[in-house]
Amino acid sequence: MDALTNLSNTVIEELNSANKNLEEAQNKLIEQANHDYLTNLYNRRYFNEVAQIFLQATKRERHDFSVMMLDIDKFKNINDIYGHLIGDEVIKSLSAILIESTRATDIVARFGGEEFAILFPSADIQTSFEIAEKLRLIVKNKTIKIDAHQIKFTISIGISSINYRHDSHITEALDRADKALYEAKENGRNKTVIFLK
Ligand code: GH3
Ligand code: MG
Ligand code: MG
Repeated sequence: MDALTNLSNTVIEELNSANKNLEEAQNKLIEQANHDYLTNLYNRRYFNEVAQIFLQATKRERHDFSVMMLDIDKFKNINDIYGHLIGDEVIKSLSAILIESTRATDIVARFGGEEFAILFPSADIQTSFEIAEKLRLIVKNKTIKIDAHQIKFTISIGISSINYRHDSHITEALDRADKALYEAKENGRNKTVIFLK
């Protein structure tokens, strides 16, 4: 009987341990699926998912919020001058600046390449303009040191607010922020532009 109890205890322990490993592996997979491999920021898919859920919630709570699209100016030059690996380091440095300069409740994502999106859960358009200008100036005034290189660059930003009454899908607001970003690029870069109809 004792031998049987011992055996079943061992089996239970092994099963528990296997379950724990499986749970850890699952959590890791979920974490990887939501994050960008280079910067560890959220990825585009996760950003869209969370932002859409957030939009539904604001329809109940009746308040507006805003999104920002942000892109490094003339990033091709950085790659051309310093190489792709240092280009990657520049992307990582900008990601760190974005995380340090925003709140834990803001959703910061890398959309791809050197393009980022940020959701500000309770910022109106004026507040998000102030945040954008703060970010733009931090980046403009920063020198990034990688190996023996001292790298300076600028960013352009497009902002759109999301109207809980009229907007039904987050991509509408992202399209508007993207148009504003395009305008910032057209107007000479290193600028923040608000989308106004
Ligand atoms: P603009 O001011 O108009 O944004 O100019 P740009 O040179 O930044 O323009 P564009 O967006 O066309 O170029 C971005 C470049 O970024 C093109 C691509 O080779 C490079 N790139 C995309 N993803 C990565 C990446 O993960 N790492 C590195 N190092 N480069 C990337
Ligand atoms: Mg660019
Ligand atoms: Mg780009």
